[in-house]
This record gives sequence, C-alpha cells and structure tokens, in this order.
Amino acid sequence: MKGKAFFIDTIVCTGCRGCQIACKQWNQLPATKTENYGSFQNPKDLSFYTYKLVRFSEEIGDNNRPVWHFFPDQCRHCIEPPCKEATEDPNAIIIDELTGAVLYTEKLKKENSQDIREFCPYDIPRVQSGTGYMAKCTMCVERVHNGLLPACVKTCPTGAMNFGDWDSMAEMAKKRLSEVQSKFPNAVLTGLDDLRVFYLFADEPSTYHKYAMSSITPRGIDRKTALKKIANPLKELAKEWQILNKIAS
Ligand code: SF4
Ligand code: SF4
Ligand code: SF4
Repeated sequence: MKGKAFFIDTIVCTGCRGCQIACKQWNQLPATKTENYGSFQNPKDLSFYTYKLVRFSEEIGDNNRPVWHFFPDQCRHCIEPPCKEATEDPNAIIIDELTGAVLYTEKLKKENSQDIREFCPYDIPRVQSGTGYMAKCTMCVERVHNGLLPACVKTCPTGAMNFGDWDSMAEMAKKRLSEVQSKFPNAVLTGLDDLRVFYLFADEPSTYHKYAMSSITPRGIDRKTALKKIANPLKELAKEWQILNKIAS
C-alpha cells in the first residue's frame, strides 16, 4: 500500500512558520510560551502541543555571510514505523489504510512512553506530563479523507510543502533534485526508501538538524526490538505446545 506522502523542499522554505501556525490552528493546540534563548527558532523543540516545528540553523558561509537552513520538522509516517514496534498492544499505534498515516491512539497511555520515544529514529513523539498521552503529527488524516490538503501544506506560501499520492510525490522530488543539482551540487533527497515524508536539502542534512536524516534502525536499541519481535512467536509456540501435548495425551 503506497498511500500518501509529503515532499518538503527546504530549498524554497523561507522560515515563515505559516505551516507551524496552521498546524496549531487546525489541531486546536494551545500556544507555547516562547523565550529568547539566542535563536530566531521558537519554540525551542517539538512538544505534546507542537506537532510541527520549523527548525532554524545558521552557519557562516562564503564572504563571512550567514547562511540560514530552515527545516520544517514533523513525523515522517514511516512505512514500517519503529515506534509501533515498541508497543505491546498492536492497536496502540495504527496505520491508516487509505493514506498510510501512523496514528497514535488512547491505548498508548498503557504503554512505556520512554520506549516509544527511544524507538523513533527522528525524535518525534512527545508525552503529556501527568497523563501519559503521546502526540505527534497526524497527517491531518481527517482532512485528507475529505479530499483536503493537510493544514500545513495548504498554508505554505512558497511551494516548500507538497502532498499527494506517494508515487507522484516521489516523482516530483526526484525531478526537483535533478533541477537543483547544478546550483547545489551537494543537494540530498531523503526518505524515498522507507518514509512518507521526503526532504530535499541543499546541503548535508546534519547541518539542518541532528535528526533531519537517520537510519530507520532505532537508536541503539536493536536488542530490545529483537526481544519484542521474538516474544510473541515464543508465546504462540508455548500455546501450540500445550495444545499438541493435550492431543497426544
Ligand atoms: S517518525 Fe517516529 S513517530 Fe513518526 S512514524 Fe516514524 S517512528 Fe513513528
Ligand atoms: S499534517 Fe497536519 S498534523 Fe501534521 S504537521 Fe501538517 S498540519 Fe500538523
Ligand atoms: S510555510 Fe512553507 S515556507 Fe513557511 S516555514 Fe513552512 S515550509 Fe517553510
């Protein structure tokens, strides 16, 4: 099932934060108190109430001039989501059949939120303190089911945010990469192998953000994943052993 995908062209992103505000507005999320911590980026990080964050990073380029990198960060809606691997209840995180959106349910309250956080290679899910609820981008699935664009895509004034069928987004992303390569020889396109969010970067993704690109392998916890994957077949084997033993006796 290919479903839907985003193509986010950071090369034409101006850091206007229209997408960030639209996400708050559509999801009726409260504003986050901001502070001056020496960056134009605000708020400082994703949170239970901030599903989309335009990250700002600045470096000194040629002629000592500052170069800005804007990175609209959000859940990548992984095709095989590692966060789902971290749950005991298979219905705690579900995948929407039409779009492929990875959706968190109330059942997550009973799961280990720290495990779910650690399993995400992109550092996305956030926990509400005191309740155990977890939240992140929903792909605006209720809008998409009704033929509308996600709120962040609808609001983007520059064409940096794009959304549609997975194949058409992949094609758009590859075409755009080939167009920009003469001007940006280090341009990188990410996500085509395993995600539903493709990013085009003018430069090395790590200059935009630590988790702009990541291996789909969970961060340093392969053993846990392996154990969880082994646990269910082992339980089933024990049940089968009991049944066969009963028949034989
Ligand atoms: S980016 Fe993280 S939270 Fe989103 S689906 Fe992938 S693993 Fe889950
Ligand atoms: S798709 Fe919807 S929930 Fe996700 S970042 Fe965009 S506006 Fe927010
Ligand atoms: S609305 Fe578009 S241009 Fe503005 S910050 Fe978001 S992605 Fe960038």
